[in-house]
Amino acid sequence: MQHKQQRQDGPMQEPKPPFPEQKLDKPGLEADLKPRPKYEAPRYKAAGKLVGKCALITGGDSGIGRAVAVLFAREGADVVINYLAAEQRDAQETKRAVEAEGRRCVLAPGDLGDAKVCVELVERTVKELGGIDILVSNAAHQNRKQLEELEPEEFDRTFKVNVYAYYHLAKAAVPHMKPGSAIIASSSSTGFRGNEELPDYSASKGAINQFTKVLAQQLVSKGIRVNAVAPGPVWTPLNAADEGMTPEKVAEFGAKTPLERPGQPEEIAPAYVFLASEADSSFITGIILPVLGGETIGA
Ligand code: NAD
Ligand code: MG
Repeated sequence: MQHKQQRQDGPMQEPKPPFPEQKLDKPGLEADLKPRPKYEAPRYKAAGKLVGKCALITGGDSGIGRAVAVLFAREGADVVINYLAAEQRDAQETKRAVEAEGRRCVLAPGDLGDAKVCVELVERTVKELGGIDILVSNAAHQNRKQLEELEPEEFDRTFKVNVYAYYHLAKAAVPHMKPGSAIIASSSSTGFRGNEELPDYSASKGAINQFTKVLAQQLVSKGIRVNAVAPGPVWTPLNAADEGMTPEKVAEFGAKTPLERPGQPEEIAPAYVFLASEADSSFITGIILPVLGGETIGA
């Protein structure tokens, strides 16, 4: 059968540095970032890969999580998104974007540093969407710090949000997950090769990688696949809101990748669809998928 589809020739035209010099206050609203990160993914055509699935996405208000929410919805999933209360404005934009794809988006603010919040989030997903088939543990805390300025409270915070929340969410979700379900964590290039400016954050991403591999092994018999996506620099509020970033560094963010620019959230989200979809990745579990803008890694 002949498909009448438009050709999609040529490279993606995505913004390149230099960007405007800017800084955001934590947690960093995407609505305030210039240029606005791209999450609409106009070239991405759905194939019904996630029809009827229920997904919980932490950090789903902005950045990569928002783009994942939109593409999951385009593929037929309903989503619950978690974020911090201060990010309500971004969350509402994500909800509108998900609803424009014809799916449900439940807004569930709460601080993932609290184990109880993690467990309640999973329970709310099951109650409101009717189950949980996909868990995306994507939220992260990040501040560039030298060792002498890195206080125990901050180290704790980074591990609570980036690592402990992943553990609490997975432990709460697995009993509800049917075979064919998927868990996906957001890792980072810093998890392969520590970033000299990010000691606690890089260590948390290394922990995420190993936890992912072990969960994959433990859950293979239940038919639940567990993988992570490891992006290079991506244009989201995370780095502009990093206390250790200067406006000058934000302006040059991503310039050192071989593609000489940061990725846009719409270029990272398809990796999450791939790992969530049995049609795409039923033979893949326990991997850390690099999406690095041309950088290579020794693995
Ligand atoms: P983002 O700021 O848009 O998303 C991070 C989200 O984490 C925030 O929206 C916030 O809702 C959430 N969060 C932070 N602390 C929280 C807490 N205590 N409780 C609940 N939620 C909390 O930035 P992003 O870049 O889209 O980040 C998404 C993921 O991608 C993170 O895991 C990040 O480490 C990873 N990542 C980002 C980059 C990059 O350059 N942007 C590179 C590699 C990996
Ligand atoms: Mg946000």
